[in-house]
Amino acid sequence: MNGESSAGIDELELGNEADPRSFAQILVDNAIDRVFTEELASECWGRQLTVVLEVPNEQWSERAIARIAETVRAAAVSGGEIKGHLRPYTFRRKPSLQTRPTDDALAIEMLNAVGHGRSIIGVFSPSSAPLPLLTDRPDVHLETGRPSRSDIARAVQTATDQILDPDALPPLDGGDLDGLALAVRPRASAAETCSRLFALARPPIFDEDVPDLRDFAAFGEARAWGLTVLRAIERIKSGDPTAGMNDLPRGVLLVGPPGTGKTLFASALAKTLGINAILTSASEWLASGDSHLGAVVKAMRTSVEQARSRRPCILFIDECDSIVDRDLERGDSVSWWVNFVNAVLTAVDGAVRNRGVILIGACNNMSRVDPALRRSGRMERVIELGLPTECEREAILAHYLKGVIDPASVATLARRSEGRTGADLERAVREAKAAAADAERQILLRDLVEVLFPKSHAGESSRHVAAHEAGHAVTAVLLGVEVRQVDLRGFTRLTNSALQTREAIAKHLTVLMAGRAADEILCGTAVSGAGGSAQSDLGLATKLSSIGHAALGFGSTLRYRAAIDGAAALIETDPAFARLVERDLQAALRRARRLLLRHKNALKAVAVRLEAEHFLDGDQVAQLVRDNQGARSWII
Ligand code: ADP
Repeated sequence: MNGESSAGIDELELGNEADPRSFAQILVDNAIDRVFTEELASECWGRQLTVVLEVPNEQWSERAIARIAETVRAAAVSGGEIKGHLRPYTFRRKPSLQTRPTDDALAIEMLNAVGHGRSIIGVFSPSSAPLPLLTDRPDVHLETGRPSRSDIARAVQTATDQILDPDALPPLDGGDLDGLALAVRPRASAAETCSRLFALARPPIFDEDVPDLRDFAAFGEARAWGLTVLRAIERIKSGDPTAGMNDLPRGVLLVGPPGTGKTLFASALAKTLGINAILTSASEWLASGDSHLGAVVKAMRTSVEQARSRRPCILFIDECDSIVDRDLERGDSVSWWVNFVNAVLTAVDGAVRNRGVILIGACNNMSRVDPALRRSGRMERVIELGLPTECEREAILAHYLKGVIDPASVATLARRSEGRTGADLERAVREAKAAAADAERQILLRDLVEVLFPKSHAGESSRHVAAHEAGHAVTAVLLGVEVRQVDLRGFTRLTNSALQTREAIAKHLTVLMAGRAADEILCGTAVSGAGGSAQSDLGLATKLSSIGHAALGFGSTLRYRAAIDGAAALIETDPAFARLVERDLQAALRRARRLLLRHKNALKAVAVRLEAEHFLDGDQVAQLVRDNQGARSWII
């Protein structure tokens, strides 16, 4: 057999003694034998058949013809007799762009063979020139397909005695005979072959916006987990005999609010590992086929199967809280859920047990997820993916801005954008880029400031909002309450301080009422921004004062009247209590007014700067207060 093949790279090295065929020939032979059986070859001797056999590409054709010829020869001899007298006519169709069937010499030869009563067996590949005479209506149409990783591992063992674990191999193009033949060398060790096959496997291509975890300082603890997986995969790729797919973590459950990058993390990990990712969602499964159990389970199994067939692969299951804890279900739907969750567990176990599938689940609410999904061997680790830290926001902005804004400005934006998710930051960069593109220029810092800190108070001018927030911020600084950020979108964040003393509560009330005081001082009248909901300044101040009086003993009596959550309700039923609270709020407003009038320059300076920049951090506010304090001491 060896002698009949073309002198390709594979033939330069000898196979093992028991089977002298080259690895590539063995791979082809096994694939051909599966479809072109001796029975079929026998029929080609007995009856006059036309057979078309399709191989993956031209690298296969000559070896395929050689194997077919061998099978045909073997089928000719039955009981020591040569069967028939007309040898089937076999040919390989070469690629050629100009061939026309009518004047093609091969077509004429083939027709002659038909005319003489011979069977025809033609080998084609997708790049072969067409020969419609045969390919349009053959009696038998066969396809070898591409060898799987198990086929490759089996051929490696036959040719070289090296034993490879098919599950530990990367997804390989089994049609690439030359590449495979160069990677599989008889005198190499199994570990060397494994590592050459990894080098041969083309990693999947990811969008450039998908970060590589190695140089992307976000995703917190999840990133550290991902880098552990990377180290395990690198050991396998390097052919380390002590490393195996068994060492890979089985899975993780990411818990966090929407937009914190749970889905992106799965793709980023796949990109970092150079493997595939199948992204699916439990609620997508549940929406299949009108929620008919059969259809839902089928959709789920299809996703799991896709991941299995691409091993090593990440299977990302979003919205795992839709795989509801079976114990939480009641009524008619119990058996439906039990069956569904059991089917998920069985499928997931099958994928994970066969190694090479890494599970990543994501949800917002872990308490709803069926606990069985979180057991060892499944999503065995739970990691919270919360809002990004300042450093992480900087990394995220830098990733999307790709160096078009200077690092110092990126750091400032990161500092100012507390509370934003990765999705918010990505959208801001996208919108700022679009605005710059509309203006036919490069993106500038102010484009980002516009979208990240928009002046968006419906019905209120930004001047009013700036005055109001400046009132809170300046008063807080004056009273020694730490300010984290002031935002023109209408909020001032303070560092949470324990309200353990009467004075702490009084200061906090003053800061809350200072927005209204600033409205009066800078705009001439109070505006509605202080009230409107339980979370408004007035709502929060009312609640705080009520708590002081009814729950904490900071009013005129020590008597405990209500728990913290129920204190404000007393206002509805107890007019005397309502008057106490009203008196506190009025006192706090007067105190804020006094403070701000004495520091009107600072108030104005902060309001003007906030209106211009949309955002100030605590240090900036403190600096402005210091710069505008005049001769007075500003800690009261
Ligand atoms: P989740 O799955 O947690 O709801 P996604 O991964 O779908 O969040 O995030 C939506 C988009 O927001 C992502 O495609 C990405 O553009 C951006 N994003 C979210 N988090 C991050 C992050 N940590 N780093 C970079 N981009 C992020």
